[in-house]
Amino acid sequence: PKTAYVRTKPHLNIGTMGHVDHGKTTLTAAITKVLADRGSGTFVPFDRIDRAPEEAARGITINIAHVEYETDTRHYAHVDMPGHADYVKNMVTGAAQLDGAILVVSALDGIMPQTAEHVLLARQVGVDHIVVALNKADAGDEELTDLVELEVRELLTAHGYGGDAVPVVRVSGLKALEGDPRWTSAVEALLDAVDTYVPMPERYLDAPFLLPVENVITITGRGTVVTGAIERGTVRVGDRVEVLGAGVETVVTGLETFGRPMDEAQAGDNVALLLRGVPRDAVRRGHVVAAPGSVVPGRRFSARVYVLSAREGGRTTPVASGYRPQFYIRTADVVGDVDLGDVAVARPGDTVTMTVELGRDTPLEPGLGFVIREGGRTVGAGTVTTVE
Ligand code: GDP
Ligand code: MG
Repeated sequence: PKTAYVRTKPHLNIGTMGHVDHGKTTLTAAITKVLADRGSGTFVPFDRIDRAPEEAARGITINIAHVEYETDTRHYAHVDMPGHADYVKNMVTGAAQLDGAILVVSALDGIMPQTAEHVLLARQVGVDHIVVALNKADAGDEELTDLVELEVRELLTAHGYGGDAVPVVRVSGLKALEGDPRWTSAVEALLDAVDTYVPMPERYLDAPFLLPVENVITITGRGTVVTGAIERGTVRVGDRVEVLGAGVETVVTGLETFGRPMDEAQAGDNVALLLRGVPRDAVRRGHVVAAPGSVVPGRRFSARVYVLSAREGGRTTPVASGYRPQFYIRTADVVGDVDLGDVAVARPGDTVTMTVELGRDTPLEPGLGFVIREGGRTVGAGTVTTVE
């Protein structure tokens, strides 16, 4: 039998973000290497982090994009995404769960479009703390790296992160992975910065249980398993839950985190829930598992929305009432009709109030963040103000 998960340290969810090829996956592997060499955790090599999600989704496991490690004071689940589209889809829509992020910026290239987009989206979905890894510092020129650092601090300030106070650590994921002591210490300094700069978030343990479904797995002979990060509340084996979207009520018959069984899981934990008697095709990513009766799904809501400027990768033309983009709400991806009311158009760069009519019932509540996408790119980000 597998050993049970024992909660000895506070658990936080973090992730790497940043432009493609700036070294997110290399740094993720390097972090696990540095900690493993220190005796606290298991080394996870680059290709185990970077391989396609489908290939790794076997057994009862949590979302494969997660790597688990421990510092002296904390237990972390760390998410790393293979590409920009995955990032937006998986990380940003689930990013309400991220307690902090490591922004990876190549010291050789500086800020690139995805760097800026990830910072903007992180802000929008409520990631309040960012630590910067100025990566590839082994190959960078000192003066150029100073300029990149200034530029990153400005970008963060522009998005309300207080760029002057944000820890910026010069690292080399590649050299740390090779065991070079200078860069091993740099990765340790980065982890110290995460430990001290990203505060332990408030967990809503007393609220009714809610988990947005990220993945569904079938385990032959045992049933259907859903995975995701618990948004609020607690859940125990034997609890009754409702699967919103699937329209079923059932019982949790098994609970695991990182492959280890547990009796009770709580807000912030990444878990796999085994659900009794639920057919595989009944549940999908985007559904929500919740305490029965605690959530009422709806279709119409009002929101404040920021329409991304063209410079940020958004549209070049305005939107008007009748616009029908995709709304990414928690892990769901739903089409919606936009009504701008008295406002004729919303131009790229504008912040507007809109009413949205979704194509299907979705759990909604004031304060919930979401992202608007169209043709594979992010065009807006908003927050639900009222639900009708
Ligand atoms: P990702 O797309 O952000 O996950 O980037 P990867 O981790 O896949 O790295 C992209 C490329 O940059 C690879 O060829 C890495 O070997 C290289 N790279 C990553 N980190 C470093 C570093 O610290 N120094 C140098 N010189 N190259 C690096
Ligand atoms: Mg990568």
